[in-house]
Amino acid sequence: MSAIIIDGKAIALKTRLDAAEKAKRLSVMPTLAVVLVGENPASLSYVTGKEKALSEAGMGSRDIRLPADTTEDALLKLIADLNADATVHGILVQLPLPRHINEEHIIEAIDPKKDVDGFHPVNMGKLVLGEDCFIPCTPHGIVVLLKEIGIETKGKHAVIVGRSNIVGKPLLNLLIRKNINATVTLCHTGTQNLPSYTRQADILIAAAGSPGLISGDMIKEGAVVIDVGVNRVEDATAKKGFRLKGDVLFDEAVEKASYITPVPGGVGPMTIAMLLQNVVQAAIL
Ligand code: NAP
Repeated sequence: MSAIIIDGKAIALKTRLDAAEKAKRLSVMPTLAVVLVGENPASLSYVTGKEKALSEAGMGSRDIRLPADTTEDALLKLIADLNADATVHGILVQLPLPRHINEEHIIEAIDPKKDVDGFHPVNMGKLVLGEDCFIPCTPHGIVVLLKEIGIETKGKHAVIVGRSNIVGKPLLNLLIRKNINATVTLCHTGTQNLPSYTRQADILIAAAGSPGLISGDMIKEGAVVIDVGVNRVEDATAKKGFRLKGDVLFDEAVEKASYITPVPGGVGPMTIAMLLQNVVQAAIL
């Protein structure tokens, strides 16, 4: 059996076009302030990708680049100014921040109504309660992917590997919503005998940040495999000196799964598409 490879780019494009259509109908141009502190190359490439997507969807971005030695107080002051600025609908502070800045303080300073990443405790709390809120883009993108390819989630066993605040935890809370109705197991480094859980998964979501963690023998025949991992693995033969690898050993998994997302081109494009949707929503609020 060879799995159907999920075309995340195509589904993301449809979602982006939908966001662009919604944006066009508004009387204001949805605008996102994108704050980058320091020069982490991966962060820089994420920020550039987000700004390009916003512009292609007819939305605005306020590009704010700050030096790595920016103080926490200066960043808090900037957030306060952006919160008060009616022409800015959403605020995105690219993570990770330099070590001397407390990420929690920064996230909590963002007005929940402008928190398009959905990381603020108010939005996280509402997600757990099943209320309307900004939903973190990566887990939301995964749910939209599953829906778009027509995967039945009701009564299925979803196993998530990874309990981060940006992927694993919000995804767990989305998958147990009544309209999705999956039964969810959440694994982490404290999990004993990880394969005994992954082999039970009808839907397996790998979000550990560990290249090749999930081998073919850890996957149930016919499972849907969603690989969230984006890992830079050194490779002297690659132009940039590295290649992007997922958490799943693709060549093995493709023989066991019914559907699988590639890396790159699977979950990644959906994350940006859902950000656009959140920016439109922020402009409506
Ligand atoms: P993170 O904060 O480092 O969390 C990783 C989680 O995986 C932790 O809960 C950790 O467990 C768990 N884990 C790590 N190794 C494990 C192992 N061997 N067995 C079981 N659990 C293990 O990472 P993240 O921010 O969630 O990101 C995860 C991956 O997704 C990364 O590769 C990241 O680049 C990628 N990502 C991609 C997108 C996208 O748009 N495609 C978006 C976000 C993240 P503990 O809690 O016990 O430490």
